[in-house]
Amino acid sequence: MNEILYTIAKDSEGNLFTALSAPKGSEYYCVNCNNVLVLKKSGKTGPRTKRPHFAHKSVAPNCQPETALHFGFKTLAAEKLSQYLEAGATFNFNWRCGFCKDRHTGNYTKKLKSVRLEYDLKHCRPDIALLDENDEIFAAIEIVVTHKPSEHAVNYYLENKIILIQIDLKADDDIYLVEEKLTEPDLVKFCLNPKCNVCDNFQQKIIMSIVDGKCWNCYSPMKASVMKDGANKFLFGPEKFSPAEFTFAREKGVAISEYQSKITGEQYQANFCPKCGTFIRRYSKLLNYLSYAQEEALPNQDFIIRYNCSYCCEKKISDDPDWAQNLKW
Ligand SMILES: [Zn+2]
Ligand SMILES: [Zn+2]
Ligand SMILES: [Zn+2]
Ligand SMILES: [Zn+2]
Repeated sequence: MNEILYTIAKDSEGNLFTALSAPKGSEYYCVNCNNVLVLKKSGKTGPRTKRPHFAHKSVAPNCQPETALHFGFKTLAAEKLSQYLEAGATFNFNWRCGFCKDRHTGNYTKKLKSVRLEYDLKHCRPDIALLDENDEIFAAIEIVVTHKPSEHAVNYYLENKIILIQIDLKADDDIYLVEEKLTEPDLVKFCLNPKCNVCDNFQQKIIMSIVDGKCWNCYSPMKASVMKDGANKFLFGPEKFSPAEFTFAREKGVAISEYQSKITGEQYQANFCPKCGTFIRRYSKLLNYLSYAQEEALPNQDFIIRYNCSYCCEKKISDDPDWAQNLKW
């Protein structure tokens, strides 16, 4: 981490100013130790000039710029959320989900009725608490400069179904990126997928992708159906479709029929070309269609077919060898 400078201060009335927004000639005080700060803003640029910042007028050995940054960011973030709330506006944020590996988008203001700083939950004190109309906390925003939220707090949030949203600050000029950082938090411990009613874990999306490709043999247009997860990872082809999935794929114009290997005699359902009758065999051939679609070399359409609990699925496999056998190709 670069040296952290003081980029936030308050005036005599307690109003916050960043070093960039603070007018020269006013009195400023440290948000942390209340001592007098001097605004250092030369207007010059160059390798030796420091970015605009505040400095203590007299030495303040017990004051840490990290603490001031944490306080400043937290306060400005709460103000930003309140502004959106008052305006009745949508405030979206995005995250890569640790549960299902998919990317999700949430809206801070959807259930929001009030924003609280240092909200006392007895067991922990989130930096920013988001409360719903029943005055219940539904999300905790933690701003991390040096200290990550304790394991105790993380577990408390999980157990009480409070969404943990973590924002990591890496530099003092992150103070100018409050909205951006709220939009792309570093960690969100929450998944939008439905939970499994057996084990209560979040489930994974099973998506059918219909790829508008060409027959690899005669080059006439042909559609291929393939299953993938929320992170676009290949799962399986028609050889493992359920009857409802066959019907669905066929309704989307995919030709599927039984393929028989000339070498092994093995039979399974596969996508085929309606023009020349050539099959797209499973594994590598089918995987190619999916990867071309992902590289946007082929158009495709995705449909969420169902949700699957990978936790229960794995458990079943380890408890039952027959199950494991069935899942093999
Ligand atoms: Zn200070
Ligand atoms: Zn998820
Ligand atoms: Zn063909
Ligand atoms: Zn489950």
